[in-house]
Amino acid sequence: MPGRNLGADAHHRGGRPETPRPDTGPQGFCESCGSPTGGDAEALRAGESRFRAAFSDVGIGMLLIGTDNLVIEGNPAFAAMLGRESADLPGMHVRDIVDPEESSGRRYRELVRGERERMSAEKRLKHRGGHEVWGRVTASLIRDGRGAPHCTLVTVEDITEQRRLGDRLAYQALHDPLTRLPNRTAFYERLESAFKPGDQDRPGAGEEPRVGLCYVDLDGFAAINETLGHHVGDQLLVAVAARLERGFAHQDGRLVARLGGDEFAVLVTASDGDRQLTDLAAELMEALERPFEVAGHRLTVTASIGVVERPVHGSTPTDLVRDADSTLYWSKSDGRARWTLYDRDRGADQLTRHLLATALRPAVERGEFLVEYQPLVGLADGTVHGTEALVRWRHPRLGLLSPDRFIPIAEESGAIVPLGKWVLEESCRQTRRWLDEFPDAEAFVSVNLAARQIWDSDVVADVAEVLARTGLPARLLQLEITESDLLGPGGRPLQALQALADMGVRIAIDDFGTGYSNLAYLSRLPVHTLKLDATFVEAFREATPGADGRRAADEQIVGAVVQLAHALGLTVTAEGIENAAQVERLRLTGCDTAQGWYYARPGAPEAITAILRDQRR
Ligand code: C2E
Ligand code: MG
Ligand code: MG
Repeated sequence: MPGRNLGADAHHRGGRPETPRPDTGPQGFCESCGSPTGGDAEALRAGESRFRAAFSDVGIGMLLIGTDNLVIEGNPAFAAMLGRESADLPGMHVRDIVDPEESSGRRYRELVRGERERMSAEKRLKHRGGHEVWGRVTASLIRDGRGAPHCTLVTVEDITEQRRLGDRLAYQALHDPLTRLPNRTAFYERLESAFKPGDQDRPGAGEEPRVGLCYVDLDGFAAINETLGHHVGDQLLVAVAARLERGFAHQDGRLVARLGGDEFAVLVTASDGDRQLTDLAAELMEALERPFEVAGHRLTVTASIGVVERPVHGSTPTDLVRDADSTLYWSKSDGRARWTLYDRDRGADQLTRHLLATALRPAVERGEFLVEYQPLVGLADGTVHGTEALVRWRHPRLGLLSPDRFIPIAEESGAIVPLGKWVLEESCRQTRRWLDEFPDAEAFVSVNLAARQIWDSDVVADVAEVLARTGLPARLLQLEITESDLLGPGGRPLQALQALADMGVRIAIDDFGTGYSNLAYLSRLPVHTLKLDATFVEAFREATPGADGRRAADEQIVGAVVQLAHALGLTVTAEGIENAAQVERLRLTGCDTAQGWYYARPGAPEAITAILRDQRR
């Protein structure tokens, strides 16, 4: 090992006159390195000159330092690192060679005292011309014949380039190249550390450590990008970043970061309450209000800000960011150019919606839904003509959920498409069974269809396929569409309705009377049935008509609607029938079918089977 041998070299020759010559071991070997100390002088000299040559020629820096911290000898490679000649080195003090630094300084002192054998550290070297030079320094202790520390052999590898590259990579990893602000990674690092227990008892953090976040998103940035080009958009981001950095970054416990796109965050890691954060949000809005001069344009932007502030305890970085994100969304949906403080109730509601939304599709695949059926009863003869299929979700944790809880969410997320298809198939299959068992009843099924199913899927093909697969004749399928969905923009739903009607499927307008549709217009659509909304039949609750003025009016409206519908060739179904009086009065208006708790609540298919069986007798 060259180090050892060079050590031996130092023992026997001595670099300088004042270097103490170590005693050689009693057995004629150097105790520290095992080299022969007496005996074969020839071999020794040969070895010595080989090592000397190695010492001066090797590319790595090497030096011997006495226990007095003065250099005994250094090789040319090391001298070059310092911009010196090797002859300059002997006698120099260690602190003239490397920057002193606490932890490695302590370890070096231990080494010199003989308390450790080896140490290494990355040290900044003192270059004669002041250049930055970094070395990976490894020092090994060399003991004298009695085992006492004699000197250290130090090797130094020049790692300046590696350091520079490393620094650049570290900088790049934590900064956004466009704005030079800390990036998302840096933001999360700081956020995580704010949630670490050790960080919480920083002075000034108060009794209970808290953290706050302003999540900033520019309003209408996409429009600027589109109309003025990405180049201008980029420059605007740079200008916004610079203003945020200047105004808000230079305070303890604050980090201004760009999270991506036109999203910025101001993190406050030792906040003292809501108020501090909402004040900050207001200042941020104000700071961004002044126009930006960018590439010859004077641009005015506003921002939406989500503000969250809370104790660190009981929360996580993920919760904080998620809630800030929701809150930002509230700011946007409440009209932009504003900040909003997180509200737990609003958040909880949204969280449930979110959980349901993400659970919906897998739940369809797992078969967590079921269909209940509610009879549609002919008012003239009191028999069941058909059923409405009403879906329910048997949620593993929340129990049986009614469609009002999840249909709107499914429509929003698009999960209504697979779900609706499943309901369609399930109810057609069941209705086909009833047809097999009770062919004379000819009971049809009425299935609700969401607008999104018409827009986002090939509903015509789906229906044809389901009818073919289940063997249900098209005339026994009715599809319910709400008034508002019918009058959507564009022609596609109408084409789809026409195609469905052409197939022989009946179309019903659900919740009729809650929208503003014009009956005469409806008659031009391929519609067969109006389902009068339950609020209408309220009027028919009492046996005596017109118990008060409003009811009398409603009753007349219902009568008129039924007459007009009939004139236009439509049948009418009344929803929400809860008592016998309503049945009687509705029958007098000429209404065709009725549906409601009075007859039966929605229930399992067996309940319908029982009714159909009774009817046959
Ligand atoms: P809808 O299509 O108007 O269905 C009628 C609703 O009125 C059903 O509520 C039914 O249970 C309820 N109802 C029936 N009789 C009475 C009564 O006498 N009194 C009162 N107060 N209510 C009565 P449900 O089952 O909760 O369904 C709610 C809505 O969810 C449905 O309103 C429909 O719009 C939607 N829906 C249900 N299943 C599906 C489906 O498979 N697909 C789609 N897209 N929507 C569905
Ligand atoms: Mg319906
Ligand atoms: Mg309805």
